Amino acid sequence: MRKIILNQKKDCEPHSVKYTSIDEHLMNFGADIKEIERVKRKYPMKIPHYFLGLIKEKEDPIWKQCVPSIEELKDVYNIEDPLREEKHTRVSCLVHKYPDRVLLLVSSKCAMYCRFCTRKRKVGRTQQISMVEIFRAIDYIREHKEVRDVLVSGGDPLTRTDRELEIILKELRSIPHVDIIRIGTRIPCVQPSRITKRLANMLRKYHPLYINIHFNHPMEITEESKKACETLADAGIPLGSQTVLLKGVNDSVEVMKELVQKLLSIRVKPYYVYQCDPVMGVEHFRTSIDVGINIMKQLQGFTSGLCIPHFVIDGPGGKIPISPQYVKEITPEEIIVTNYLNDMYTYPNSHKVFSNELINKERLRIGLTFNLKRDPAKNERFDKYSEFDDISTIDAIRKAIESGGYEVVLLEANLDFIEKLKKTRVDFVFNIAEGINGDSRESQVPAILDMFNIPYSGSGVLTQAITLTKSMTKDILLYHNIPTPNYQLFKNTRQKLKPALKFPLIVKPNCEGSSKGINNNSLVFDDESLTKQIKYVINNYSQDALVEEYCNGREFTVSILGNVKPKVLPIVEITFDHLPENINKFDSYEVKWIYDNPKNPIDPISCPANLTPKLRKQVEKIALDAYSVLGCVDCCRIDLRLDSNGIPNVLDVNTLPGLIPDPKQNSRFPRACFAAGMTYNQMILEILHAGMIRCGLRNK
Ligand SMILES: *Cc1c(COP(=O)(O)O)cnc(C)c1O
Ligand code: SF4
Repeated sequence: MRKIILNQKKDCEPHSVKYTSIDEHLMNFGADIKEIERVKRKYPMKIPHYFLGLIKEKEDPIWKQCVPSIEELKDVYNIEDPLREEKHTRVSCLVHKYPDRVLLLVSSKCAMYCRFCTRKRKVGRTQQISMVEIFRAIDYIREHKEVRDVLVSGGDPLTRTDRELEIILKELRSIPHVDIIRIGTRIPCVQPSRITKRLANMLRKYHPLYINIHFNHPMEITEESKKACETLADAGIPLGSQTVLLKGVNDSVEVMKELVQKLLSIRVKPYYVYQCDPVMGVEHFRTSIDVGINIMKQLQGFTSGLCIPHFVIDGPGGKIPISPQYVKEITPEEIIVTNYLNDMYTYPNSHKVFSNELINKERLRIGLTFNLKRDPAKNERFDKYSEFDDISTIDAIRKAIESGGYEVVLLEANLDFIEKLKKTRVDFVFNIAEGINGDSRESQVPAILDMFNIPYSGSGVLTQAITLTKSMTKDILLYHNIPTPNYQLFKNTRQKLKPALKFPLIVKPNCEGSSKGINNNSLVFDDESLTKQIKYVINNYSQDALVEEYCNGREFTVSILGNVKPKVLPIVEITFDHLPENINKFDSYEVKWIYDNPKNPIDPISCPANLTPKLRKQVEKIALDAYSVLGCVDCCRIDLRLDSNGIPNVLDVNTLPGLIPDPKQNSRFPRACFAAGMTYNQMILEILHAGMIRCGLRNK
C-alpha cells in the first residue's frame, strides 16, 4: 500500500505546489486542485489509498465523503462545537455526559478526514493525544464508580498501534466497575487492511468488547471491508454500525435500505443513523429532519427489524431518538396505533399500569374542542365552514396550553365527539367548537360537557344559544336599556314593515356569525330591495331575517377577558377607508374575508382606537353591561357601532371570538391582546385560567 500523503503544505503559493499521487488521481476524475488546496488550508484532507480506489466518478458518494469541496468554506450558518463537547470535557480527552458511560478519546488522528465530521474543528489539526493524558482520563474513570461502559473513540482509536491500544484496554479492564468496553472506529470501512488477525486476537482478550463501525454507503461494503468485519466478528466481537445521514450520499430510502441490509450480511448490526450535526463547514451535507424520519418509516416493517437503526439527533443534551409516529392516541382503555402501512389498530391497555404510571395527576389534561375548517362540498353553501378553525389555529392553541404545563388532547367536535370524550378523561376543556347544525349549535359542546360534568372555558349553554340568535340577544339588551338598533324579525316576505323602522335598514340572518349572510346588498334603502334581501336570507340560510336600523357611524369591537372584574382590552376600530367606492362601509362578508386577507397588505384595524376618554368610557361600559346581562364568561368580543347621535349600539356578541394566531389575518380578539402587550400564549392561558378559576380548578 502506498504511503498516506500528508495534507498541509507550509508553502501555499501555486507555482510551488507539487502534485501528490492523490492530487493526480483526483485530477484524472476532473477535480479542481486549486479549489481543493484552498479548502485544505482550513480543513485538512487525508484519504487512504484504499478508499480513494472506491471512487467511481467525480462527486459520487465516496468522493463527496473524502474530497474537499468549496462548499465547506461557504457555510455561514453553523458553529464549530454545537454539541458543546468542550463543556462536558471534565478531564482532557474524556467526555462524561451520561450517567453510566463515558467517551474516552485516545487519538486525535483518523485514517481519513471525513468532510462532514462533527469534530471538523479538531481533526487533523491538533497534536496527538499523549498516553499521559489518557492515563489521567483512565484515573478519572477509576474514581467514578458509576461508569460501567467506556466508549473508546477519537479521532480513530485504531490509528494507535496495537501495543498502545493494548495498554489502554488492559488498564480499562483492570477497573472492576467497567463492564463494557466499546471501540468506535471508521477504519474497517476506510482502511480495512489495518484489521489484522493479530489485532483481533489482541482485542478478544478484553471481552465484553464491542465495536461500532462508521459506514455510510453500500459502496463501502467491499470484499476488503467484509473481510475486516469478519476478522473482528470471528474474534467474538459484536459489531454495530453508525451512519451519518448525508445529502447526496445516503439520503434516500433505496440507498439506506441497501446499506443496512448489506451491513447485516457482513455481520454488522445497524445501530445509529445520525442527523448531520450543524457544524461549521458541513451545511451542504445536511438534510431536513423529515428526510430521516421518512427513511425510518420506509425501513420499519419493510425489512427485518434487525436492520433497523435508531435515527438520532445529537446535541448538548445527548442523543435523542426521532422516530415516525405510530402512536395516535393513548387512552386509559386502549392505545390507538398505525402500522407500517398506515393501517389503524387499537390495542387494549392495562388499567393498572395506566392508572399508576401514565396518568400523572399533577399534570391536568386539557381537552381542546374545535371544529376543523374544511372545503364545502358541491351541494353545500360557500360559507358553510367559515366559522370553523384552521389546523394552524388549533395547533397554536394546543402549543399555548402546553406551554402552561398541561397535557392537551385534541377533540374534534364532530359526530363521534361523545365516544371520544368518554375515552379520554379530560380534567377541563378549552372550547372553541362552533357546533354543527341547528340554530343553537354553539351550545352543543357545552351541553355535552355539562352532561358529562366536565368543566370548560367560555360561555355556557344558555349564553351560547342566546348570543347566536340576534333577536333574543337584542331583546335582552333592550330590556336592560343597553342601546342596540331597533329591529323586526321576518319569517316570510308577506310581513309588513313596522312604521317605526326607518330606512336605511340592514338585513341579516338571525342566527349566524362571522358576517355570514351579510353582504354588500344587505344595506337596503327601499321596500323593493328590502323584500329581495329578506328573500335571499330566508332562502339561503333557512332561518328568519333580522331587519334592523342602520347605524352609520364608526365601528368598534371590544374584547373582554375574565370574570368577577372582567378586563376590557384595547378597543379595536374597524376602518373602511381602504374599500372601493362601490362597497358599503360596514362589516360584510366581503369586507371581512375578501378585502381583508393575508395576501392583501391593508390593515383594516386600528388598535387601540383613537377615542375621546368620554367615548371610550361609554363604549367600555356598554360592552361590559352587555357581557354581564347576557351571562358571558371568560372571554367575549362585542361589536358596536355609533348611531347618527354618536351613541354606541351593540350589534353582535361573539362568545366564541376568532383566535387566529397570525397577526396578518387581523383576528380581532388576538389583536386587542397583542395591543395590551400579551403574547398569543399568554392570551390563551389567560382565557384557560379564567375558566379554571371560575370552576374552582385553580386558585386566583
Ligand atoms: C454517543 C455517546 C455515548 C454513547 O451513547 P450510547 O447511546 O450508549 O451509544 C456516550 N457518551 C457520549 C458523549 C456520546 O456522544
Ligand atoms: S473517522 Fe470519524 S472522527 Fe475521523 S474524520 Fe471521519 S467522522 Fe470524523
